[in-house]
Amino acid sequence: MTPLPCWEMTRLAPSPTGALHLGNARTFLINWLAARRAGWRVLLRIEDLDGPRTKRGADTGLIDDLRWLGLDWDEGPVYQSSRMGAYAGAIERLIENGNVYPCICTRKEVELAASAPHLEDGATIYPGTCRNRFDSMDAARAASGREPALRFRVPAERIEFRDAFRGVIQYDLESLGDFVVAKGDGTPAYQLAVVVDDAAAGVTAVVRGDDLLDSTPRQLLIYRALGMSNQIPRYWHLPLVTGTDGRRLAKRHGDTRLGHYRSKGVTAGRMRAIILRWSGLESGESEIGIEEAIRRFDFAHIPRVAITFTPEDDAWLVGSSGRSR
Ligand code: GLU
Repeated sequence: MTPLPCWEMTRLAPSPTGALHLGNARTFLINWLAARRAGWRVLLRIEDLDGPRTKRGADTGLIDDLRWLGLDWDEGPVYQSSRMGAYAGAIERLIENGNVYPCICTRKEVELAASAPHLEDGATIYPGTCRNRFDSMDAARAASGREPALRFRVPAERIEFRDAFRGVIQYDLESLGDFVVAKGDGTPAYQLAVVVDDAAAGVTAVVRGDDLLDSTPRQLLIYRALGMSNQIPRYWHLPLVTGTDGRRLAKRHGDTRLGHYRSKGVTAGRMRAIILRWSGLESGESEIGIEEAIRRFDFAHIPRVAITFTPEDDAWLVGSSGRSR
C-alpha cells in the first residue's frame, strides 16, 4: 500500500531581532524533532515585520545556526516582509466585518491611562479609549492628524482551547484587552501576520514558547473573524529556558548565543545533547546525532516546568567541567 501523503505542516518562525541562543534553539530543535518524528512538513518563516527591532543580517545568521544544529525545512525561507498584500487583504476584511476600529492612542498614552490594569508580563491592557470614538478612519485621522492604528474589538467572552502539551486553557477575553492588528504606518502586527501566514501555508501544528500562550486566544479571535476557524492549528506551548534567577534567558545571563559556543569549538552534537537533556530525552551522552535525536523524540518526556540554565551547563558545553557527561 502506498503511504498516505502527510498533510501536517509546522513552521519554524524566528524573528531576526538577534541571534539564536540556547533558549530559542531549544524550542526550534524540539519543534523540528517533533516534525521529523511525526512526518510533518516544515516551513521556515522569517518574521521580519518588527521594523525597529529587526537587525540587518540576523536572518542569515539564524538560518546558518539552524542548519548547523542539523535542522532543515521543506519550504521557505518565506519572509513576512514579502507578504504585505496578503496582510492588507485580511485587514480590509476585518474593517468590513467591523472587527476592528481606528485607534489614535500613542503607546505612552495607553501606559499613562490611570485605569489601565497590567497583564502579568507587564504589558498594559488597553483601556478602550477609542473603542466607540470614531465613525470612520477619516474621523480618526482628522482628530489626531496622524494615521490611526487598528485595534481588534475583543468580545467579553471566555474562550477555551486545548493545548496539546498543557491541556485545556481558558481565557477571559476581556482581561486581554483590545489589541493592535495594524500599526499606524500600515505594518501588520504579529498577531495578524501569524494567522494569515499559518493559514495560507496550511500550518496544522504550532510549537512555540509559552511566552506566546496569551497570544493564542487573540489569534483564535482573528481566525474566527476571518472565517477560518476550520484552519486553526494544534498548539504546543513549551516552557522556556531561564537563568538561575528564574528569569527568561537573556543577555544578563551571559553570552548564550549559539555563535558564541560555536566559536569556542562546541559541536552541534554537544549542543543537541544539552538540549535533549533539558527535554528529558538524554541519558548521559556528550554528543547526540540528529537521527538519534529524532528517534528519541517524545513530547511526553518534556518537563512541564521551565528549564534552568546553570553555570555548570555552560562549563559542560565548553568542555571545562569535570563531569563525565
Ligand atoms: N517569531 C516569533 C518569535 O520568534 C514566533 C512566533 C510564533 O511562533 O508564533 O518569538
